[in-house]
Amino acid sequence: MDKKTVKKQLQLKGIPAAPGIVIGKAFIFGGNDLVPIERKIADKDIPREIEKYNSVILKTKKEILEIEKKISEELGVEHGKIFSAHLLVLEDPVLIEEVIARLKKQKKNIEIIFHEVLNKYIDVLSEAKDEYLRDRISDIIDVGNRILRNLMGAEGKGLDSLSEESVVIAYDLSPSDTAMMHRGKVLGFATDIGGRTSHTAIMAKSLEIPAVVGLENVTDAVQDGDTIIVDGNHGIVIVNPTKAFLAKYQKDKKKYDHMEEGLIELKFLPSETKDGKKIKLAANIELAEDVSSVLFHGAEGIGLYRTEYLFMNRNTLPSEEEQFKAYKLVAQRMKPSYVTIRTLDVGGDKFLSQLDVPREMNPFLGWRAIRFCLARPDIFKTQFRAILRASAFGKIRLMYPMISGVGEFVQAGAILEETKKELRKKQISFDENIEVGAMIEVPSAALTSGIIAREADFFSIGTNDLIQYSLAIDRVNEKIAYLYEPAHPAILNLIKTVIDNGHKEGISVGLCGEMGSDITLTIVLLGLGLDELSVSPIAIPEIKKVIRSVNFSVARQIADEIIRMSTGEEIHKFATNKMKELVPEIATELGIE
Ligand code: PEP
Ligand code: MG
Repeated sequence: MDKKTVKKQLQLKGIPAAPGIVIGKAFIFGGNDLVPIERKIADKDIPREIEKYNSVILKTKKEILEIEKKISEELGVEHGKIFSAHLLVLEDPVLIEEVIARLKKQKKNIEIIFHEVLNKYIDVLSEAKDEYLRDRISDIIDVGNRILRNLMGAEGKGLDSLSEESVVIAYDLSPSDTAMMHRGKVLGFATDIGGRTSHTAIMAKSLEIPAVVGLENVTDAVQDGDTIIVDGNHGIVIVNPTKAFLAKYQKDKKKYDHMEEGLIELKFLPSETKDGKKIKLAANIELAEDVSSVLFHGAEGIGLYRTEYLFMNRNTLPSEEEQFKAYKLVAQRMKPSYVTIRTLDVGGDKFLSQLDVPREMNPFLGWRAIRFCLARPDIFKTQFRAILRASAFGKIRLMYPMISGVGEFVQAGAILEETKKELRKKQISFDENIEVGAMIEVPSAALTSGIIAREADFFSIGTNDLIQYSLAIDRVNEKIAYLYEPAHPAILNLIKTVIDNGHKEGISVGLCGEMGSDITLTIVLLGLGLDELSVSPIAIPEIKKVIRSVNFSVARQIADEIIRMSTGEEIHKFATNKMKELVPEIATELGIE
């Protein structure tokens, strides 16, 4: 008889973040493995570290109170009380005092100090004779790791150090955690929190790592080493599948991979409708390494290069030279196709520790993107110089994120002109005709796009933010993900306004948000008159298939009809039915309902 205990299968439903199916062993990330990197700090920075510690204590307290409330409601007050013990540890004055005293003495970053103190407590308690005290260890580890995770933010131990292929299970992953996966052995991942257009989800797509986010309790349901299936197409995670389920998913995986391989054959065919209307199909990238995938999937150019990833997972800013090398490499590899380099979009869910930007209450509404760059012309100009120099080696376009009105565009342009002048003086060559575009992702910019279009050479609509800001839906919050509706009439009308205003001024209008990868909306976006769609490289073959299967005249009629509808639900249903009618093979293959 096999004495091994068979674990019960569990199926969880979350938000599909990156397509594909993987099966592997679970690795719980962010548990006892949090190891901070040591940094020396100056005397003047001690108050900043203390402030960071205090604000993390507050944040952690809020999290614990929330869990306590949830558990009390769901399982009863008795269970909720466990977390009162966590609060006692969190607010223990002896612990707090010791951390601050060591910080002042040792002058090291707060994460490393806290880590040391935490380990000391654990060691002392492990030796304790009193059983009650020994039992407190798990509380201390639990709450200590929670504090540490909050302190470390984006600086956690990298996922590049996994020793074997695994499916990563985490409460949350920051975009920088995800960025590290490209060097690692991550087959797929599943998280408790997060939304479809969080930068973590976007990064997963770029890396072609199947992922499901917003599962709420995957970290509770899974143990290290459990067998996990991640179905990134449908947002499903299965823990310890039965033999029958395993066989079903192995078959589904084969079928999906086969379909993808089939679509790749479209690579050398143009992105045009049956009646000959061309729409540029470009790719979004985060890292210079992504270019291989862009070329493999047959993109016509790069519609969005999110340069902030070059600034992540490091203690210093990338120098002009380092940036220049990365931009030049991308430009050269893509030549003669174009590369749209977006200037630094720091802030929101992309926190860069080395920039010393204070944590904000509403980071997506705060000191982000162009606002940050205009206030830090030193950083902005370094990036400009690197981009301009690289423009001598390929076809580069430049683009500003989060423009809210023409003023910011003009201000950024003045700094760019200054930089160009300096380069000319030094006889450093660059593309004198470099095109400069604006991302339209703030409602005020969409509504004044007619004015901005007189200054800009092109537009690219960033729907991830445009939806977030127009519908007041935090793009990374899984609790309100159901309200994040790309097909909302407000969004389609804003997109139409931007396209029409751009075309009136004779400039091209693209779209580079995740909405562009939603194949149920491809026909609508085509019909609205977009000149370019820029999507994750893996989405390109499917989108191309849809474009090549329809007539532009029909797409236009569909868009005309849809733009007059009253609800997102109605629009979504209509668009999906049209897609199923016009491209049935792909709708069936992808299981679109
Ligand atoms: C967007 O907002 O749609 C966009 C493409 O930019 P990001 O996702 O990087 O904010
Ligand atoms: Mg954006």
